[in-house]
This record gives sequence, structure tokens and C-alpha cells, in this order.
Amino acid sequence: MMILNDANYYEKQWEFLSASQYKGFISCEAKAFAELTGEIPKENTEAFLVGNYVHSAFESEEAHEKFKQDHEKEMLTKKGKLRAAFVGAEEMVQRLRQDAFFNNLYQGEKEVIITGNLHGEEWKGKIDCLNVEQGYFVDIKTTADIHKKIWSESRRVWTPFVEAYGYYEQMAIYKYLLEKKYEKEFTPYIIAVSKQTPCDLEAIEIRAELLIVALNNVKENIERVSTVKNGEEKPRMCGKCDYCRGHKQLTGFVSSEELIS
Ligand SMILES: [Zn+2]
Repeated sequence: MMILNDANYYEKQWEFLSASQYKGFISCEAKAFAELTGEIPKENTEAFLVGNYVHSAFESEEAHEKFKQDHEKEMLTKKGKLRAAFVGAEEMVQRLRQDAFFNNLYQGEKEVIITGNLHGEEWKGKIDCLNVEQGYFVDIKTTADIHKKIWSESRRVWTPFVEAYGYYEQMAIYKYLLEKKYEKEFTPYIIAVSKQTPCDLEAIEIRAELLIVALNNVKENIERVSTVKNGEEKPRMCGKCDYCRGHKQLTGFVSSEELIS
């Protein structure tokens, strides 16, 4: 069994499935596959960097300094001023640092790599904060608005961002891998911080049933994801994402009503 560490964690994309890779294939197979093969670069968007800025701040002083050095170019304007998004990121860090509930909860090992088998596949995950002794783990999520309602086309209901962005699945996968490894129960928590000014904070728990449903969703989808990833089946285009827009070719007419369905 291959051992993952900080140096090779992000390289081993073919050997392991990750929650974010899984989510990528669920939202658009063609885009996820193109990212894997290197046809398109993995998105290093500002939102992604803001998230990492906040994460590294709570990992360790060294990790945070290294992040700031490595991404100086992306964080500064041409005039050498900190970009607005990172001024916001620093505010998020300060808010969390001052919050007693958060500090009390965020105790344990940081950025812990976990691997294991789930539904016949080898998975990998990186847990923001793991407290083995007390049986819980915490993930920090930065998001535009914690209370935003997001429409789910498949379920025809409004959903919270934690559901819309596939965090139930992610938490359920981590919980499963941890429980198998340590042979004890683990509870996932999400600390959400918004990008608003001033930023909003929330400590979120997820009802057990929702995690069970999420793990079942993974089970239902895993065969398809795995065959597409392994090249046994052609990836389907979702037709809606930036990748699909960029690779679109007309093949016929659609009715005007179809445009919004
Ligand atoms: Zn697409």
C-alpha cells in the first residue's frame, strides 16, 4: 500500500479517489477528467487560495508563513498592496482566533492525511483538525454566505451550502475512513466562515441520517466514477460548466423552453 505524505499528497490523483475528485466527477465528468489528464490546469482560483490562506493559519505558524511566501504574487496587486480577497481572509482568521467556542473545539492534530478502502475504491483525505481521543474532526469551510439558499435541480428543493457543495459526502467519507482505522465513532463538525464584511461564523453539525444518505449516494455513483476515471467509459459533458461551454459544438436545435430546464 502506498504511503501518502505532505510531499506527494496532491500528486497521487490516479492512485486514490478524493472527496473533491469524486465531487468533480459528479458535477461534470468531462471537466474532472480533463483536469486529471492535465488537459486543463487544476483551478487555482482566488476562492481556493482564500480557503488555503485561512487553513494554513490554523495549521501552524510555519505553514502560514510558507503559504504567504509561495503565493505572494497572487496575493498582491501590481502596486504591492494586499488584494481585497486576502484582506478579507485575514479578517476571517482574526475572527476565528478571537472566538472561544472555535478555539475550544479546534484542538487536535492538524492537516491529517487519511487513506482507506470505501465501496471498493482506495480513498484519500486530508482532515483539518482531528481529535482521536474525543472522537471528532473539524473542517473549516470558507463560503460567500453561510445562510444562502441554493436550488437543487435534482431534488427540487432549496439546500444549504453544505449540501450543495457536497460536504455531506465529504464528511461521511472521512467519518467512514476514520471509524474503520480507529475502530471508534467519529463526529464531523464544520466551522463555516463567510466572506462578508464583517464575516459570519457558524459551527455546524450534520444529522446522522444525512451522513448515511450521503454515503449511500457515494455507493450508487462510485462504479460510474471509477470506470470513467479509469478510462473504461467516455466522460460525459454536463453541458453547463465553463469546460463544456468552451468545448461546445452545435449538433442540432433545442426548443426554446429547454433553455431553462
Ligand atoms: Zn461540464
